[in-house]
Amino acid sequence: MSAECVFCKIINRELDADIVYDDEKTVAFKDINPAAPVHILVVPRKHIPTLLDMEKDDEGLIGHLHSVANEIAKAFKIDKKGYRIVLNCGADAGQIVFHLHLHLLGGRPLLQTIAKGRGV
Ligand code: 5GP
Ligand code: ZN
Repeated sequence: MSAECVFCKIINRELDADIVYDDEKTVAFKDINPAAPVHILVVPRKHIPTLLDMEKDDEGLIGHLHSVANEIAKAFKIDKKGYRIVLNCGADAGQIVFHLHLHLLGGRPLLQTIAKGRGV
């Protein structure tokens, strides 16, 4: 964990968030500034700043995040129509929180671009 990290604070319940899923490896909560009707952040409990910082041992964890995203998509009933998963790595991608996370986006047709954030 990182003392300054906003997502670590949410994971440790030091900061409020609308948590929709929780297991021993993962916490998922609604994005504070949603870009789509469903916009959920799927976050590993382990503080990994960016995808580039993942280690070989984290491969299973990254797979698990995707399984969790699938389950949340079903729970929020966006599985049939489709959804997008976005992972921003570094400044040019627009990453602003340096604790690895997946964006799960859906609930409306998303632009057919490889984009993130407001442009999705
Ligand atoms: P990034 O650009 O790093 O991939 O995305 C970070 C996301 O975290 C943004 O969509 C932003 O709205 C969201 N976010 C930042 N701070 C908070 C917070 O304190 N609570 C919640 N729920 N979401 C946050
Ligand atoms: Zn963190």
